[in-house]
Amino acid sequence: MGTKKRQQFIIGVDLGGTNIVVGAMSADGSRSFAARSIPTGAELGAENVADRIVGLIEEVIVDTVAETRAQRSDIIGVGIGAPGPLDRERGLVIVAPNLGWRNFPLRDRIAERLDLPATLDNDANCATVGEWWQGAARGGTNVIGMTIGTGIGGGLIVDGKLFHGSSDVAGEIGHTTIDLNGRHCKCGNYGCLEAYASGPAIATRAREVLVREETASLLPSLVDGKLETLTAETVYKAAQQGDAVANEIVRDTARYLGAGIANLLNIINADVVVVAGGVTLAGDALFTPLRAEVRRRAFRPAVDATRIVPGELPGTAGVVGAVATFKLQHLGTL
Ligand SMILES: [Zn+2]
Repeated sequence: MGTKKRQQFIIGVDLGGTNIVVGAMSADGSRSFAARSIPTGAELGAENVADRIVGLIEEVIVDTVAETRAQRSDIIGVGIGAPGPLDRERGLVIVAPNLGWRNFPLRDRIAERLDLPATLDNDANCATVGEWWQGAARGGTNVIGMTIGTGIGGGLIVDGKLFHGSSDVAGEIGHTTIDLNGRHCKCGNYGCLEAYASGPAIATRAREVLVREETASLLPSLVDGKLETLTAETVYKAAQQGDAVANEIVRDTARYLGAGIANLLNIINADVVVVAGGVTLAGDALFTPLRAEVRRRAFRPAVDATRIVPGELPGTAGVVGAVATFKLQHLGTL
């Protein structure tokens, strides 16, 4: 009789303000299955969103069982990545402005409904751990992860461990101050990195230049003259076509991000910095001046010891990372 150990599977959940993404992975991380996505439906309220997550997980379990001929008992748990701040110990989402949640016991709702162990961690932490386990930060010991989208999320791996800090707030890179008297940020502070270099902030800065200056630019034509519909992606597209205004915006973005990263390098002395999210579409036009800015600002030995790289898991870092944080929290190892 073969006594080969059965393969085990872990479900990863990436809960965002717009979409819920759920996928399954083999516990060793070698195979991924059945990624599915539905709108979050935040307006339906926390309990309904939890129902939607459970429903989607059930579908992914059915798909995974069909695809691998596993049994349901081979699914060992669910890792959930959610917008923070969180209380990991109690499994609560403390505040999620995009979802309208306060102190919602997301982890236990999911665990009870599925009768499976579940863990909860911050979505940006999950993305960082995902890149560390399977992506651009593989092999790193001290890692800074940044995900640039609607906001700027961050995660830190210090001495080979995901670093949560004293109350699960560590890694909020987007809300480090880069200008004392700077732009107002959604968090209430002034001059946060996120207020300059998030996707919406990039679009806002481009719009400001177009309104203020009578410079010829491709940008208005790319949005049929409707500047209010201009996004960061429009800026990257125009930059690739050699547009001077768009290139200036990308260069400034690189300088802001570079300053933020230099601050962290002098503190964490990371060996890998992963920059993920839509901003990586700008490619070398972003990364070349970004690395130059970091070189200008951070200590030389810190700069020499690090590599600053784009994320390698666009769209999947959240799910992969949620699986990884389940392993870290529940099994104690990756
Ligand atoms: Zn802020």
